Amino acid sequence: RAKSQQRAGHFYFSRSMGVEIRERVRMMHALRSGFQRGELFLAYQPQVDLATNAAFGAEALLRWRTEDGRLIGPDRFIPIAEYSGLIVDIGEWVLRQALAELVRLHAAGHCTFTMSVNVSQVQFRHPHFVDMLRRALDDTRAPPEYVELEITESMAMEEPALLVEKLAQVKRTGVSIAIDDFGTGFSSLSHLQRLQVDRLKIDRTFVTEITGSARGSSIAEMVIQLGRNLGLSVIAEGVEDERQAHILRSLGCPLAQGFLFSRPLTPEALVEWLGNQGLIEAA
Ligand code: C2E
Ligand code: MG
Ligand code: MG
Ligand code: MG
Repeated sequence: RAKSQQRAGHFYFSRSMGVEIRERVRMMHALRSGFQRGELFLAYQPQVDLATNAAFGAEALLRWRTEDGRLIGPDRFIPIAEYSGLIVDIGEWVLRQALAELVRLHAAGHCTFTMSVNVSQVQFRHPHFVDMLRRALDDTRAPPEYVELEITESMAMEEPALLVEKLAQVKRTGVSIAIDDFGTGFSSLSHLQRLQVDRLKIDRTFVTEITGSARGSSIAEMVIQLGRNLGLSVIAEGVEDERQAHILRSLGCPLAQGFLFSRPLTPEALVEWLGNQGLIEAA
């Protein structure tokens, strides 16, 4: 009886797995052809100085508008792009696209604007990653000192020796490094000190918790303190309301990003948003 149940269980398991795998394979093909057909695009979310609310830069966020008009978010298709290796080509395209946009923004007069680009661990681990980065910077003539790459905290915890060396190579190109979704992992102080990172991004979860219980702000507080102690910049992500912004300011958090300030925008809307911001400041 146990055996037949086991077999039944096994059958059920593999059948649902089969469906899942088939769906994944289908999406992988759709993504590959969608990428070739130009269905991917970037949205740019402004990042602001919390003291003045003035934007200093933006994060490039990947979007997929499928043939039938559906908009698919990166959380759904990046894992498939990683799994299939397609992320290497897509990631290079994202980087070049974002760098070209940065150059346009500088030319339009936003000459100290910065651009943050998310990098997948599959992409980062690729042996030619640093060469690819150098070529993209050369070809687009983007100024590296205004470019930031975001790696996740989970990535920053792996293979310490390799990572330290690779980050050092990346830093030599002149770009800076932020640790995304910070607070969700367990990076130790000593490990962080070995990595040549420039900025910590407080994960949205901890920004959301900030207005809850008295202890809700403790992780955000800790990250801000950690940044101060290590001489790193700190940005809070996912700031949705004034109360959160207020608490972050009082905790000494210098920078923020979130729907309160702006949703991710098309390049045209970003330029318009930046223009309006200037008008508000001047008024
Ligand atoms: P992330 O890098 O942590 O990006 C922040 C996410 O939070 C974005 O979701 C952004 O739209 C969303 N967000 C920003 N402000 C708010 C807010 O106030 N409230 C809420 N609820 N959400 C907010 P998105 O664009 O769906 O991206 C999800 C994740 O996908 C990103 O998280 C990043 O890990 C990944 N991703 C996005 N673009 C790329 C890319 O070009 N390459 C790679 N490798 N990963 C990417
Ligand atoms: Mg990010
Ligand atoms: Mg994040
Ligand atoms: Mg995230």
